[in-house]
Amino acid sequence: MKVIIGSVVVLALALAALFAMSTHTEVNVSPVATIGVATPVTVSLNNPHGERAVEAWLEQDGKRFPLLEEKGPSHRLFWKRHEAARRLTFEAGKNKVPDLKEGKARLVVETTSNDFRGSSDSASADVNVVLTAPRVFADGFQHYINQGGMELVAFTPSGSWSEAGVRVGKYTFRSFPLPGHSDQRFSMFAYPWDLAADVVPEVYARNEGGTEATAKFWFKLFPKKFRARDFPVEDALMEKLVNSVDPNNTLAPGKDLVSRFLFINGDLRRKNNQELADLRLKTEEKILWNGPFLHWGKEEANYADVRAYMYHGQKIDEQVHLGFDLSDTQNTPVKAANDGKVVWAADMGIYGNCIVVDHGYGLQSIYGHLREIDVKVGDAVQKGQKMGIEGQTGLAGGTHLHFGMQVDGVQVNPREWWDEHWIQDRVMSKLAPDAKIPVASTTETAAETPHKKKRHQK
Ligand SMILES: [Zn+2]
Repeated sequence: MKVIIGSVVVLALALAALFAMSTHTEVNVSPVATIGVATPVTVSLNNPHGERAVEAWLEQDGKRFPLLEEKGPSHRLFWKRHEAARRLTFEAGKNKVPDLKEGKARLVVETTSNDFRGSSDSASADVNVVLTAPRVFADGFQHYINQGGMELVAFTPSGSWSEAGVRVGKYTFRSFPLPGHSDQRFSMFAYPWDLAADVVPEVYARNEGGTEATAKFWFKLFPKKFRARDFPVEDALMEKLVNSVDPNNTLAPGKDLVSRFLFINGDLRRKNNQELADLRLKTEEKILWNGPFLHWGKEEANYADVRAYMYHGQKIDEQVHLGFDLSDTQNTPVKAANDGKVVWAADMGIYGNCIVVDHGYGLQSIYGHLREIDVKVGDAVQKGQKMGIEGQTGLAGGTHLHFGMQVDGVQVNPREWWDEHWIQDRVMSKLAPDAKIPVASTTETAAETPHKKKRHQK
């Protein structure tokens, strides 16, 4: 009898211990606000004992639509103790749940711990179901584009859309409301110097569910052959350049002079160009510029010059120069090329003391290698206003101004913006509030075969 009671007590204690040692699962649903046609959802699960079951479903109008059901072998007594946290990705949306309707729904994930107690844990998220397709029509203008330059296109997105702009190969450009045309938007976009001449720009509109519509527009590209230049960097110059950018030898410590130069000319150049590109978000949604941009000094280097860096007769590097080098006499003031607002006024690696001025709608001008900066971030500047003095800070062999321009973070050839007629013709005529915008192209949604429709034009 005693033995039986003893056994029961031992068993009860063992079960209580197993129960106490069982754990819960931490369940997290990655932020997903919108479910579309086929939206991937990621869930992270964390339980040292693992899960014996995972279920996910959508709830809408009192109905439950299953999305995922995963069952593994049960371990109630000899469970695992060091299961790693894991992530599960599954699809939610109209493809999987044909009865899903536009509107609100709830995404629920429920798990069962793989141990004695088998705790049930869940997480849920309110989601918005967006199924209406976006549509987009481009304008009917004739768009003449210089490779390395930019162009403006107007377009009309409709249906359900949350993001719209222009795509040119791997590059994407934002859009802004078109002044005077409440239903239309426009993008200033570049045809970047590094794209092949057969890339077709397109406007796009995308809804929150990830469905996208695109439309082509009439354009003609003028391909450009960019100059190739040898750029000799012998020891004295290399030493000067390296020590100007990195006087305390902190960028590539312990490396020889050539390695330090290659780091600055390559890695640091890429980092600085990314810093410039990121300034695109600091823009005003209005025209700040006024007429053509100022041009001064002598052109020593051009936009998109391909430079072969020669050291003791050997090519050690190749980089593309994305602005103009304008040289003048010493102590030349650096003037704002147009009206705008200062968004950068500090050192920027290879560009040395650098100023970036925003001119609105993602258009910005860049001034590098200054000896002295007289403005600060936030200052409004007027065309011709002195902002500093030319110098040779950063990666500069002699005193000159590095002048560049960028459109939504992509550096373009400033020459177009020095030309009053080009600005009037390509940009201002379309941004006038009473501008007549011809509508031409048809729309194509992602669900259709791309390019199958013929556009018609005026
Ligand atoms: Zn330069």
